[in-house]
Amino acid sequence: MQTTSTPTHCPYCALQCGMNLSPLPSGGVEVVERTDFPVNRGALCGKGRTAPEVLSSRVRLTSPLVRSEDTLVPATWDEALDRIAEGLRRTRTEHGPDACGVFGGGGLTNEKAYALGKFARIVLGTSQIDYNGRFCMSSAAAAGMKAFGLDRGLPFPLEDIPRTGCVILVGSNLAETMPPSLRFFNELRENGGTLIVVDPRRTRTAEQADLHLSPRPGTDLALALGLLHLIVAEGRTDETYIAERTSGWEEARAAAMAHWPEYVERITGVPVPQLREAVRMFCEPESAMVLTARGPEQQSKGTDTVGAWINLCLATGRAGRPLSGYGCLTGQGNGQGGREHGQKADQLPGYRKLVDPEARRHVAEVWGVDPDSLPGPGRSAYELLDALGTDIKSLLLMGSNPVVSAPRAAHIEERLRSLDFLAVADVVLSETAALADVVLPVTQWAEETGTTTNLEGRVLLRRQAITPPEGVRSDLHVMHELAARLGSERGLEKGFPTDPEEVFEELRRASAGGPADYSGITYRRLAEENGVFWPCPAAGDTNSGANHGADSGVDSSADSHADSGADRNVDPRADSNADDREDASLDAALPDDPAGGRAEADAGAAVHPGTPRLFLDRFATEDGRARFVPVSHRAIAEEPDNEYPVLLTTGRVVAQYQSGAQTRRVDELNAAAPGPFVELHPRLAERLGAAEGDPVAVVSRRGRAVAPARITSTIRPDTVFMPFHWPGEGRANTLTNPALDPTSRMPEFKACAVRLETVRR
Ligand code: SF4
Repeated sequence: MQTTSTPTHCPYCALQCGMNLSPLPSGGVEVVERTDFPVNRGALCGKGRTAPEVLSSRVRLTSPLVRSEDTLVPATWDEALDRIAEGLRRTRTEHGPDACGVFGGGGLTNEKAYALGKFARIVLGTSQIDYNGRFCMSSAAAAGMKAFGLDRGLPFPLEDIPRTGCVILVGSNLAETMPPSLRFFNELRENGGTLIVVDPRRTRTAEQADLHLSPRPGTDLALALGLLHLIVAEGRTDETYIAERTSGWEEARAAAMAHWPEYVERITGVPVPQLREAVRMFCEPESAMVLTARGPEQQSKGTDTVGAWINLCLATGRAGRPLSGYGCLTGQGNGQGGREHGQKADQLPGYRKLVDPEARRHVAEVWGVDPDSLPGPGRSAYELLDALGTDIKSLLLMGSNPVVSAPRAAHIEERLRSLDFLAVADVVLSETAALADVVLPVTQWAEETGTTTNLEGRVLLRRQAITPPEGVRSDLHVMHELAARLGSERGLEKGFPTDPEEVFEELRRASAGGPADYSGITYRRLAEENGVFWPCPAAGDTNSGANHGADSGVDSSADSHADSGADRNVDPRADSNADDREDASLDAALPDDPAGGRAEADAGAAVHPGTPRLFLDRFATEDGRARFVPVSHRAIAEEPDNEYPVLLTTGRVVAQYQSGAQTRRVDELNAAAPGPFVELHPRLAERLGAAEGDPVAVVSRRGRAVAPARITSTIRPDTVFMPFHWPGEGRANTLTNPALDPTSRMPEFKACAVRLETVRR
């Protein structure tokens, strides 16, 4: 094992901050600053700094558990795996393959996400696989596909932000979710650029904005339409760009012109002068960006809402141009890679469509199966969870805790309890794992090697720095063993290697030619280059579908690949760094290449440099043009009424991460954020008769949650906010509405109707 520091990445959010792990005499590791990774340059938030505590947590699972009557008791790995194989086999025999469900997570490495999708489709033969990333960025992904023909969270590196003229940040509280990223926005303002934040709350991020727009939750779509109306009315559109690089403008323009600023003010609560000021700030500079996060995306009209913000970029010529564009700030650690490699209900590796015959043929060939044997698309995440106990009888779950994180969580908890069989792989006994028939203790980030893809589309290598505890095995080992038990009759038992690099080599082949083409990326390159942006076709492959619209040719002093010209019309050998990379020394910790794939990608100097910036020449649509999508305002699925007169919105706090399964086990983070709260305006608190810290019940049509009042004038008087990291009485997702976006199938986490009650204790 390592005796010196190991460069790696944080296990939590999509920024994937770089860090070094230094061995401790006790056998553990500590986090040491790593300044060579350009995203964070050494900065970390408290979650990243304390991440090693989860490795040695006293509540860490170190033995498989199996249910014996009502309790979970320790078992051997063979006993536990046999029980899972038996449970899944029985379901498949009695009810058919689609009665077996698989649920993954946006925290799984690319290798695990790939193996899980393959396992579900060829070993279980089920179409019923999806993952919690559906709850994260699926609306932005759907809108990006519609408009640009390709979804990559950010189509440019974060390092471009300080050099643009204006950023509109919609529904993102970066100061709490990704603190090190604030540096880019601070530099933007130091350089004379401006920051507009759109958020119903005056968050710590909004405090730093030049202009804060505070719309009523769920009205961001109308807000974007009102801004576009003013842009047209004030003659600020870029007609040359619209004519040369887009289609569908007339319909989108007509839809926007039906949304008069005064009408938009009535819907959103944002005064017309603020709309005019936002338009001026956005349109006057040479370049500008719109970045969205969960605020506009987690809505039952999330795809249209993001589409409206993209329309704003297209009408002003702000997409596919240097230092401009639309981007989504993906949330989970591998939210980007997790959606590219096959654990999503409708996709195959390489971000290919499951219904595309050519994609099925290609992937089936890599997997050694008949394309016709691959199942079709399955249910989306909430629909899959909602079908547990009825259509779906058994579930294998990895890297997710839906008892806390799913909408209408009490109902989902009941669905999980109604299953014939539930198996969960996790590092601690999460609230979901506690319901399982079998729990498998699996390795964590620093105990295994694997790749993730951060919010910029930068593929990264997480390296093993520590030996896992006795009794703990990797998720890849779990799939290997289950395939041996369930796939032998179809000759599939050998298709699930446990070595992550071997899995990655197969992933490269499976993704080759797809939109998210990783075929030119190797562990060696990742180690040498500090990450590689996809698409990155293998050497000599100039026909990759990934190259549509991809061009890294923008002048950038901040990016060493800036002038490398990754367009398919440009010889990648123009990359002056290629030869240097050939000579660079390998990280001694890396295992040998098991599949010979390195030789394929690295032979000679014709190495594709990766693609930091997309769309500069053309978009990834068939005709190369971006598509306006005409959208109109519509209300949230559940408007307040006399019975439920207040809006609830949910989100995160800086010291906790997602369902809190890991961060709630870290003393320092727990001390900083020990439990849920209800944030409400003083006027609302006065009407309720609640003082600071008083328990307040928040009641929706789906249930009731109780948490202490936190009274602040930074929130709208018609809205309350709850963070969603905790189970039990204060579980925010007991209240949230599972109304789904018709395109992305995203639930409406961000707005539902509630009433407030005081609680006597
Ligand atoms: Fe960086 Fe996110 Fe980890 Fe914090 S949680 S250190 S912002 S990657």
